[in-house]
Amino acid sequence: MSDFAERARQLHGRAVVWDAHACLPLHPDADLGVLRRHHAAGATFVSVNVGMDMNPLPQVLTVLASFRAQLRARPELFVAAETAADVERAKVEGKLAVAFDLEGALPLCGRPEMVQLFYDLGVRQIHLAYNRNNEVAGGCYDEDVPLSPLGRKIVRAVHAAGMFMDVSHTGHRSSLEIMAMGLGPVIFSHANPRAIKDDRRNATLEQIEACAATGGVVCVNGVGRFLTDPKAGTPAILDAIDWLVERIGPDHVGLGIDYSYPANGLDDEPPGLDRDHWWPRREGYGAGLGGIRIAAPEQLPEITEGLLARGWPEADVAKILGGNMLALARRVWKPSRPGADGPPGWSG
Ligand SMILES: [Zn+2]
Repeated sequence: MSDFAERARQLHGRAVVWDAHACLPLHPDADLGVLRRHHAAGATFVSVNVGMDMNPLPQVLTVLASFRAQLRARPELFVAAETAADVERAKVEGKLAVAFDLEGALPLCGRPEMVQLFYDLGVRQIHLAYNRNNEVAGGCYDEDVPLSPLGRKIVRAVHAAGMFMDVSHTGHRSSLEIMAMGLGPVIFSHANPRAIKDDRRNATLEQIEACAATGGVVCVNGVGRFLTDPKAGTPAILDAIDWLVERIGPDHVGLGIDYSYPANGLDDEPPGLDRDHWWPRREGYGAGLGGIRIAAPEQLPEITEGLLARGWPEADVAKILGGNMLALARRVWKPSRPGADGPPGWSG
């Protein structure tokens, strides 16, 4: 191994590596053990999706129950991440920290207090609309609408709970209004600059700068469709990172690879799903998400080596790999249960 490759290997091993979004089949029989691939690739933390706007609440809840049970059943591999300290402990113990995310507000059933309930169940990140408009906010592949009055209440509930307010998949105007509310950091958990790939799912410079101004982080997406390389090769991911760091600096960039683990024969499609509604043909989609290539977790070490090769300082690379998101979790995530990791004076 060359000195350079060895330096990259050591940095990757030392760094907290944070993948802000990954998908498993949304089926309670899905095996969380597949996340060993993330673990083997040096990930410290991964946010696992438990539902999108098209998934009925019974599906979301049974998946969440199953994934929580599987985390508890494998303490030798997993840490159920409730706080930033849990992620740091996973790093020290050589385990993979896992928390959950929601893509869309429909599982909240129009009730802002559902945010705290999901928080108590391990959900640490939510965006309010998945590609299409709903009663709460606009989606990126729909008419550009403002945040609704209910949406404003839900944004307040997300910040109050200490959950990451995410604006991936969200419409342009709604996302800017969420960030303009000024209630705390807002993230793009998995999105790329529209300047490198013109797709309404990618973020404009205005959105990117607004996100950074909240103290938030833009996590680069590994989906080929949203990169300059449909095969999702590592150089295209590095190009997206370079573009962002040059504009908003190394403190506001992270990774949200968006890898989708194979279905392994599980059918997780909600009954009557209208694929063209959620992934419109007029936006260049085929039948759903088939044929779209996504970067694999195994590319995480290549990202570290590539960033060093492009001349970014080790300290900046460590921030991009996960230091920025860990710092944000320290600032935003609150202890879920009194006494669990609470501020002085809390008692159970
Ligand atoms: Zn997504």
